[in-house]
Amino acid sequence: MPRHVHIIGAGLAGLSAAVRLTKAGIGVSVHEATRQAGGRCRSYDDAATGMHIDNGTHLLLSGNHCAVDYLKAIGIAPDFAPADFRFVDGANGESWILRLGDGNLPTWIFDAGSRVPRTALLDYLKLLPLLIGGADRPLREVIDRDSELYRRLLDPLMVAALNIDTPSGSSKLAAQIARETLLRGGRACRPLVFEQGLSTAFVDPALAWLTERGAVIRFEHELEALSVADQKVSAIRFRDGEIAVAPDDAVVLAVPAYAAATLVPGLTAPDQFRAIINIHYDFAPPTGSPFMTGVINRNVEWIFAFRHRISATISHADRLLTLPRQELAETVWREISDILEMDAPLPKWQLVRERRATFAATPEQNARRPGPRTRWPNLFLAGDWTDTGLPATIESAIRSGRRAAEMIPSG
Ligand SMILES: Cc1cc2nc3c(=O)[nH]c(=O)nc-3n(C[C@H](O)[C@H](O)[C@H](O)COP(=O)(O)OP(=O)(O)OC[C@H]3O[C@@H](n4cnc5c(N)ncnc54)[C@H](O)[C@@H]3O)c2cc1C
Repeated sequence: MPRHVHIIGAGLAGLSAAVRLTKAGIGVSVHEATRQAGGRCRSYDDAATGMHIDNGTHLLLSGNHCAVDYLKAIGIAPDFAPADFRFVDGANGESWILRLGDGNLPTWIFDAGSRVPRTALLDYLKLLPLLIGGADRPLREVIDRDSELYRRLLDPLMVAALNIDTPSGSSKLAAQIARETLLRGGRACRPLVFEQGLSTAFVDPALAWLTERGAVIRFEHELEALSVADQKVSAIRFRDGEIAVAPDDAVVLAVPAYAAATLVPGLTAPDQFRAIINIHYDFAPPTGSPFMTGVINRNVEWIFAFRHRISATISHADRLLTLPRQELAETVWREISDILEMDAPLPKWQLVRERRATFAATPEQNARRPGPRTRWPNLFLAGDWTDTGLPATIESAIRSGRRAAEMIPSG
C-alpha cells in the first residue's frame, strides 16, 4: 500500500484522484501551480465588472456518471433540469424545442413532435454507421452534412461537445458522446449549469472535504521536474526544494497535456488545442427568458440566462481570437438582444478567451492520447487529454483522475 500519493495539478482530474485516494484511505498531497484550484473549470470575482463569473459556462449532463459520483462524494446533490433544449436559427428567427423526455431509450426520435423539425426517422437511422464504430475517421467521412438534422442538431451538438469544426471531428469521440448520452434517452441528457459558479460545485467542497480528511493542498507549488532512480520516480522538484518519493509512494500527474509533455520525456500527447470564448454581460435577463438557448447561424452558440447576468459561449473559437474584444462583445450583445427580444444598450461585460480550452478532437490528436500508466510504475497520468474515450470534458477529467487513483494499489 503506498504511503503517500503526490498529485500534481488541482484541476478536476487532480481533485478527482485526490478524492478517490482519500476514500481508499491513502494519504495525498496536491501540488497546484497557481493560487487557485479548478484549472479550466473555475470561478472568480471579476474586478472590472464586479461579477462573480466562471472562466466559461460549463454544461454537465445527467449521463456524466463519474462527474455525478464525484459531486455526490463531496456532498453536492446535482439538480438536473428536464431534457428540453431550445434552439433558435439566427438567420430567420425560427425556434424549436427538442424534447428528449425522461426515458432510458431515445424514443423521442419516433415522435415527430419531439424531434428536430423537418427531420424524419430515416435521418436518425442514417447515423447507425457512426454509432457502430470502426476506425476513427473525420466526421466529414461518416455523416451526411446536407441535412436538416446536421444543421439543426448534429453540428451545434458536436461543436459544443468536441470543440472543433464538426467535419474535422473524431468519429470515435462523437460516437462515444452519443452512446453515453443521446442513446440512453432523455434521462441521460438532463442538463445542469452552475448558477452559483463552477467552484461552488466542483472545487470548494472538494477542497474542504479533502482538508477535513487530512489531505495537504499546496498552492503556488509548481512541479518543475521529476527525478528518476532505479526505474521509478524518486523525487519531485519544486522551486522551493525537492520532495523525496519513497519506493512505495506514487505520483499522479494531472496537468494539461502541454505541461505533461515538458515533464515526462518522450511522452506522446495531444499537441493541438482549440479555443473557447465566453462573454459575460452584467444584465438581468427579461423575466421568462429561457435558461439556455442553442443558436445556429450566428456567432453566439449558447446563451445562458442566469438570474443576474447573461453569458454567451462560442466554441471552436480560434477564428475569433484576433477580433478586438469590444467589437466581439458588441456583436454578440446585438445577437443576444435579437434572440431574447430585448432592447438594451451594451451593459458592463467581461470576455474570457481560453486559448487552449481543449485538445483538438480530431482522429489524429485522439490517437496521441496516452493511458494512465507510464514507463515508471509509480507515475500515473490523469487529465481530460488522456485516453478516456471522451473528448475533453468535465466527465473525461474526473474519470481520468478516478482511473489513475484506481491503478494505485490500496492494500
Ligand atoms: C471555456 C471552457 C468551457 C468548457 N465547457 C465545458 C462544458 O460545458 N462541459 C464540459 O464537460 N467541459 C467543458 N470544458 C472542459 C473542462 O473544463 C475540462 O475538460 C476540465 O476542466 C479539465 O480538467 P483537468 O483537470 O484535466 O485539467 P486542468 O483544468 O487544466 O487542470 C490542470 C491543473 O494543473 C495545474 N498545473 C499545470 N502545470 C502544473 C505544474 N507543473 N505543477 C503543478 N500544477 C500544474 C494547472 O494550474 C491546473 O490547475 C470547458 C473548458 C473551458 C476552458
